[in-house]
Amino acid sequence: MAFRPLIAICGTTGVGKSKLAIEIAHTLSSTASEIKTSWTGAKIINADAMQVYAGMDILTNKVPLAERQGIDHLLMGFKLPTEQYVVGEWVRDALNAVQEAHTQNQVPIVVGGTSYWIQHLLFPDRLVRDMTSIPASDQTDIHPSSSVSISDDMAKAITSLAPDLLDLFHSLPDSAPSADADPEAAYALYNLLKVLDVAVAERWHWKDSRKVLRSLRIIQDTGRRPSEMIEQQSQNRVKPRFNTLCFWVYAKPDILKPRLDSRVDMMVKQGLLDEVRVLQKLTASAPEGKSGSDYTFGMFQSIGYRELHRYLTLSSPTDRDFDNALNRMKISTRQYAKSQTSWLRNKLLPALYNSNMDCDEKNKSRTYLLDATELGDKWETNVRRPAINITQGFLNDDPLPDPLSLSEAANMMLQIEQKATDPKEVLKARRKVHCDVCTMDPDQPVMVEAGKEWDLHLKTRAHRRRANKKDQSSRIQFHRENSKERDSNCTTNSSESEIDVSTDVLTR
Ligand SMILES: [Zn+2]
Repeated sequence: MAFRPLIAICGTTGVGKSKLAIEIAHTLSSTASEIKTSWTGAKIINADAMQVYAGMDILTNKVPLAERQGIDHLLMGFKLPTEQYVVGEWVRDALNAVQEAHTQNQVPIVVGGTSYWIQHLLFPDRLVRDMTSIPASDQTDIHPSSSVSISDDMAKAITSLAPDLLDLFHSLPDSAPSADADPEAAYALYNLLKVLDVAVAERWHWKDSRKVLRSLRIIQDTGRRPSEMIEQQSQNRVKPRFNTLCFWVYAKPDILKPRLDSRVDMMVKQGLLDEVRVLQKLTASAPEGKSGSDYTFGMFQSIGYRELHRYLTLSSPTDRDFDNALNRMKISTRQYAKSQTSWLRNKLLPALYNSNMDCDEKNKSRTYLLDATELGDKWETNVRRPAINITQGFLNDDPLPDPLSLSEAANMMLQIEQKATDPKEVLKARRKVHCDVCTMDPDQPVMVEAGKEWDLHLKTRAHRRRANKKDQSSRIQFHRENSKERDSNCTTNSSESEIDVSTDVLTR
């Protein structure tokens, strides 16, 4: 694959992502560049869900034209505030913008706080299956839709079902039976699934009748085992579309909070209320069924609109009402920043790390955290300078520094507990195990998730009490049937069999 670079700049609101994007783009574009590379410039592609809308520059925090240093800002301010614009549409448009940049020998720099948009741009997935206008070159990595012809293996499994299970398979209920109201029906469905696809059945509790039924439907609709399909998905591990360098601009939460608060105050001084008034008037042209109090579409989703719209519609608003509205806006902003961080750590980082597995060194995605906690001179030393150096190394395929070595914050935030994102691993991890000790009615077995939950279950009072009871009664039985001499082995034997409950169930 030819080297197709993409720089993504992520981070929470108010950390200076746009500023950094312009600084990198400017450096790449200037003739006396600090970066020596064959690329001749950069385009900035907006990945902020609110900045796609025209107008309301204060509410959406757009970089003023004067500060853009002549750098192209694509996908910014081009939608009407009343228009709905969703992730799939953005991915399609962003792919075109990236292609446009590459054709002009420019580096695309994607910047914005809507991290899940960025994630869907970096990694192809099922989201794009329905988007017909994706360039053909990017269509190849779309998952093939499952075949409807029944595999021989599956056909055999279905024909060898016991008559009652075969009947059930051909007359699956429309809705899942409640395990409490109709345990028999729920357990029958579970048993059917266990025969047809034991790997997937082990993932569900028999009481999860909705999930059990859904798995059975998949078998009916596709003629294939869900576990087989999961396995296949795992084999095509999701590779990023581009050679990706990701910068996470970061500021420590306790420093960021007051900064965000004062930014809200600044927005008010700059005329935020006037913008909200304009936006309120636009609701006259909103799509049918939508009103100014509907915060789920277009620009009406932006933080600040909801809080100030309510204030502006009060019949006789007081200063106190205004303070309250402003306070609510500050709280929403902080909550948003928090959720952005958790998305980056829990979704984007694992996806980036996971895509690097069995990937050659040259094509690995690079992720760097830049500590923007301190501003002033520190921006140059902690953010701009390292970003420029890393960008140069990335574009020239030079050795790059260890991301964890950059700062204490990088060391802390970039190391995550590697969660399994591979579907096959997830399937394995959620396996349910029977507890034979606690099961009273074999048609309504007690099931517990393997791993931590199972370990905890073994320690519960109820389980231990039952285990003791069983132990005692088996010991009495033992005494009756065996000689006194072999009695000394009894305790070891019975406790071994207890531990073996899990493996026993899994191999059965
Ligand atoms: Zn138990």
